[in-house]
Amino acid sequence: MAIKSYRILNLLPCVTGGKKLRVVAAFDQEIGDLLPYCNAVLERAAYDHGRGTLTTRCYGRPVILSSRHVVIGQLTDPGLAEEILEALKDFLNRVREQKDKITPVYEAKIDPTWQQIFILLPRTNCAACGEQTCVAFALKLWSGEQLPENCPRLEQPEMDKIRALLDEIHDPLLP
Ligand code: SF4
Repeated sequence: MAIKSYRILNLLPCVTGGKKLRVVAAFDQEIGDLLPYCNAVLERAAYDHGRGTLTTRCYGRPVILSSRHVVIGQLTDPGLAEEILEALKDFLNRVREQKDKITPVYEAKIDPTWQQIFILLPRTNCAACGEQTCVAFALKLWSGEQLPENCPRLEQPEMDKIRALLDEIHDPLLP
C-alpha cells in the first residue's frame, strides 16, 4: 500500500547538541520491507540489515529510516522536516511501485565518503571525541551523529574539508 501520510511524533534536541533539533516521525504504512530495495537503488546510503535501518541524507540532513520510524537530525528549522518527509514519502512510494523491477540488496553497504572523511582525521584513536576510534567518529560524522568540532585534535583546514564533504553528500534520487 502506498504511503498517504506521516505523523510527527517527537521534536527533540539533536544528538549532536547545539541548538539543532531531531524529528521523529512515522508513516501510515510500515516500510521495513522496502529498505533492501532502497539499499539497491540509493548511491549515498548506509544499510544495516541486522538493525533494520537505512541512513541517508535529504536536503542535506541525515535521515534514518526503520520499519516504523523516520529520524531526521541536524534541523535548525522544524519546517524543513515536513519537506523531507514529503520527499521521502514520494521516494518510498516510487520504490514500492517499482519493487518488481529492483533486485533487493541485503548486504551492508555504506557510501564510501566516510573513508574520505576518515583520512582527514588525526587517526590517533585518542577517544577524546567520545568514540573509541577515529573510524567510529568518521562513520558517525557521515551519519550525522557527530560534528567535526567534537574532535579537539582536528585542525581548521581538515575541519573545513570535512564540512565540505558532508555538504556534498547528496543522492541523485533524493532532493
Ligand atoms: S578525538 Fe579525533 S583523533 Fe581522537 S579518536 Fe576522536 S576523531 Fe580520532
